[in-house]
Amino acid sequence: MPPLTDLQAMQQALVQAQLAGAAGEVPVGAVVVKNGEIIASACNAPIALNDPCAHAEILALRTAAKVLGNYRLDGCELFVTLEPCAMCSGAMLQARLQRVVFGATEPKTGAAGSVLNLFALPQLNHHTQVTGGVLAEESATLMAEFFQHKRAQKRMERQETNPHPLRDDALRTPDARFADLPGYPWRPNYVSSLPSLNGLRLHYLDIAPEAPANSSPAAITYLCLHGNPAWSYLYRKMIPIFSQNGGRVVAPDLIGFGKSDKPKKDNAHRFEWHRQVLLEFIAHLDLRNVVLVVQDWGGLLGLTLPMVAPERYRGLVVMNTTLATGETPLSPGFIGWREMCAKNTEFDIARLFARGNPQMSAEECAAYMAPFPDAGHRAATRSFPAMVPEFADSPGAAISREAQAFWSNSWSGQTLMAVGAQDPVLGFPVMQALQQRIRGCTEPMVIAQGGHFVQEMGEPIAQAAVQLFSRSN
Ligand SMILES: [Zn+2]
Repeated sequence: MPPLTDLQAMQQALVQAQLAGAAGEVPVGAVVVKNGEIIASACNAPIALNDPCAHAEILALRTAAKVLGNYRLDGCELFVTLEPCAMCSGAMLQARLQRVVFGATEPKTGAAGSVLNLFALPQLNHHTQVTGGVLAEESATLMAEFFQHKRAQKRMERQETNPHPLRDDALRTPDARFADLPGYPWRPNYVSSLPSLNGLRLHYLDIAPEAPANSSPAAITYLCLHGNPAWSYLYRKMIPIFSQNGGRVVAPDLIGFGKSDKPKKDNAHRFEWHRQVLLEFIAHLDLRNVVLVVQDWGGLLGLTLPMVAPERYRGLVVMNTTLATGETPLSPGFIGWREMCAKNTEFDIARLFARGNPQMSAEECAAYMAPFPDAGHRAATRSFPAMVPEFADSPGAAISREAQAFWSNSWSGQTLMAVGAQDPVLGFPVMQALQQRIRGCTEPMVIAQGGHFVQEMGEPIAQAAVQLFSRSN
């Protein structure tokens, strides 16, 4: 047989490197050549052998020494796919190799020129020549693919064990606080992949129709948006009626509320950001044939959404809310509420619900406190009142004016307006003004005993919605 060329010897080292990679080791291989013939070959194996010294070069040197019956490898050449480390370079010098040939350079640990060059020190080296760069690309590609694959595997494992890791600047209400809440049996759904969430976990209900929709070919999706300081729990009396009549119900918890993650900082909450999250959420679920159901902040934000993609929406159920365009002063009722929240940042949420809804049980009122184990979780309830656009140039005011023009001029869906008459903040006068600004909005349905959180008496509203939207098809 003719003697091996450098290229052929390195190809054999690459075969060893592939074997190492297949075994889960960093893919490095080495062969020792004497008189043009391979006398030893080895692949990297520190993991398999539980040996920090079990680099391919060391293992190949050991085998070669045994074959020759000599600890000195005079006249031998070692081929290794990657620039050797300090340990292996030292061993090669000890073995008095005639020549070392390596493939790719190793900028982090290479001791043949990259980090240091042991072979260039005349005090250490009298015997060994070094050549680098033989089949360097093949070797480097093998390494790059190996680490890429490893990173992908790690990512997948992380995804499986913890699909929505909690951000350092956010809190997550313990699941136990939501166990056995009255009238809220639905399983949670989460998304954290929306660009604007930047890893925050958003919770939403997504409840399939219980009965097939009989009169409409495409099922309606009721998209229910809550406000401050509520969460999707607020819709528990309306959800079954929508669902039993062939509707799908999607009800997200705004970030900072309910089962969604809660940023620690008050100033994380901004009008435009919450709006963007909702827009991306709707696009993510690709909601169509939507009846938008809004109240309070669900309306302040939600009423600015349909103009972006009107083709997704067929109807609107609007309750005790407004569009804050900054053109007219905020109502005295709202100013009073905002002052109360500013003075008493930890106001008792359960009591707020109890006061407006004497029919609610203590457990139901307490369920509204479930998302907030302590003040740290309440950045949203502190921030939202001051976030209502007050002046023409307040954040959110311009987009609300655009939305107002949309509802007045371009809205072609049907609208059901319902008003909890006992609401001191967003009650009948505010809603009458809103009615004038929504094209085709008929006289509101008045829930005489209903307060601000009119969904707590929402069964007749849901019934009226089902009637209106199944008829309208
Ligand atoms: Zn080494």
